[in-house]
Amino acid sequence: MAAHGTIFGAMLEEFDVAARILSLEPGIWKILTTPKRQIIVSCPIQMDDGRIEVFTGYRVQYNITLGPGKGGIRYHPDVSLDEVSALAAWMTWKCAVAHVPFGGAKGGVICDPNKMSRRELEALTRRYVAEIIDAIGPEKDVPAPDVNTNAQVMAWVMDTYSMHVGHTTTSVVTGKPVELGGSLGRREATGRGVMIATRESAAHLGLDMKRATVAVQGFGNVGSISAQLIAQLGSKIVAIADWKGGVYNAKGLDIEKLLEYAPAHEHSVAGFPGGDPISNEDLFKMEVDFLIPAALENQITMKNAPGIRAKAVIEGANGPTTPEAHEHLHKRGVFVVPDILANSGGVTASYFEWVQDRYGYFWTESEVNDRLEAKMVQAFNAVSGMAKKYNIDMRTAAYVVAIDRVATVTRMRGMYA
Ligand code: GLU
Repeated sequence: MAAHGTIFGAMLEEFDVAARILSLEPGIWKILTTPKRQIIVSCPIQMDDGRIEVFTGYRVQYNITLGPGKGGIRYHPDVSLDEVSALAAWMTWKCAVAHVPFGGAKGGVICDPNKMSRRELEALTRRYVAEIIDAIGPEKDVPAPDVNTNAQVMAWVMDTYSMHVGHTTTSVVTGKPVELGGSLGRREATGRGVMIATRESAAHLGLDMKRATVAVQGFGNVGSISAQLIAQLGSKIVAIADWKGGVYNAKGLDIEKLLEYAPAHEHSVAGFPGGDPISNEDLFKMEVDFLIPAALENQITMKNAPGIRAKAVIEGANGPTTPEAHEHLHKRGVFVVPDILANSGGVTASYFEWVQDRYGYFWTESEVNDRLEAKMVQAFNAVSGMAKKYNIDMRTAAYVVAIDRVATVTRMRGMYA
């Protein structure tokens, strides 16, 4: 088990608080804090210049009690077994909070996709999938996009698996292009879920979305769509910062223009002419109603949490707030909607995609969005109801909901041996 101080350790700290509230028995406690399966693979790839590079990849199936493992594949230089294990655990709790019949898994490859050609990325994806092929499948473990992976990468995952088993198997992976078994609305679903969580929080706190101000960290799939959909509710997105720089406009940024600008400028908002530059540090200090971290983990720490002046933090990213920083924010009365609830729209729509693939019958975009709306509101109400019942913060409440659901099924299924 990873020591505290690691990302997995942060997950365990969050888990422990909720498990104590539930008086979880020691045996179930042990099962739920241990990854079921951790796979490490080496992926040798011939690069475009002829040299051979070996990339390390991981797939962790943290818990598969409720159903097949589910979770994205991340390509990033900072990927580690510790990080992937924590992300797989968070997927377990996320699927349980979202009430979809999946366990939790996650994959990652240590690489810098910004420095790789399309051919190299395809070769790496196919080799990685070939290395973990026995562990994945529609009934076993179903990957999806995550940081630096997209629908095209999922198409390669699906094709590699299908070539291996000898027939087209769309339901092995979600987040695919719509033309080959993807679901309408899936690409926008995480951001749509963040928008719903923000809107529900506003109602909970008595804030008006039409007058709300919002700062967003990250302008990838989650940050950009969250900003777009929240702006459509009439709120002002006053600041966005990403890996390269940030932009600020007190009157509200033109998100539609930013959505055109970023892809043409290294996928960054830096240098956008419709506002003034702002640093990542200053974004966290802004007096806004909602702060939405939608980049990577460990962004809100004790270094910057005391300076946060937002009324609410909606976690679009996985693990953006350290446990100490979370406690600090909670004590100061900042309303924090945790990752496993706030960003669960993505996996909920992944569930819809998996269902449609297995059914061979596809829904309209409004059917997907309506079902996503219903699931997100149900999840939000289950968590806020639990927070009220025990007088606890939303993160602890989300863990209580999740752990209770997984523990109940673990007890029902009993021990195999
Ligand atoms: N990578 C996304 C997440 O962290 C989606 C996972 C999925 O759809 O399986 O929730």
